[in-house]
Amino acid sequence: MEIVHYPHPTLRHKSKPIRRVNKELKMIVDEMFELMYEASGVGLAANQVNLPLQLFIMNEAGEKGEGEEHVFINPVLSKPKGSEERQEGCLSLPQTYANVIRPKEIHCQAYNLKGEEFNNVVDGLFGRIIQHETDHLNGVMFIDRLKDATYDQVSGEVEEFEIEFEAQRKAEKIPDDETIMKRLAEIESKFC
Ligand code: ZN
Repeated sequence: MEIVHYPHPTLRHKSKPIRRVNKELKMIVDEMFELMYEASGVGLAANQVNLPLQLFIMNEAGEKGEGEEHVFINPVLSKPKGSEERQEGCLSLPQTYANVIRPKEIHCQAYNLKGEEFNNVVDGLFGRIIQHETDHLNGVMFIDRLKDATYDQVSGEVEEFEIEFEAQRKAEKIPDDETIMKRLAEIESKFC
């Protein structure tokens, strides 16, 4: 398992809801936490590790053994309220940061690995991570939500990622779109 970078096609894939929570899924979650801590992140969505599943993990503390680990399965956001500007980054666009305007608070309904329901209004950094990660599951990245003037500030960095991706494709380190989609469909048929 590894974190894929923009513009990897899996980051644009809309995940289907998970119907089977089994041992394999629990192992996936464990591995995702390891990767997230290694990369010093506070949240990681399944798309970012090349999996087409409606699942993300988070820990506001960003460090193993600290804070609280959360697993969100099949999250549904509703009732956005207010608006707030906050700096965001993404493990699929390392070292790129920009201010993103999002609802100040939002209602989130989801499940954890034990099948327990999460049903709360979320805000602050906690709510921001939930919104950023839920976007990933729908194939949306934070750079899609930037105003033109803000996007201009990071467009050079974004372009670098595109150049790097093309180079990796040419070197056959990343398969073609068809191969990637076929693999995603196989995984979906296992869990969704
Ligand atoms: Zn992200």
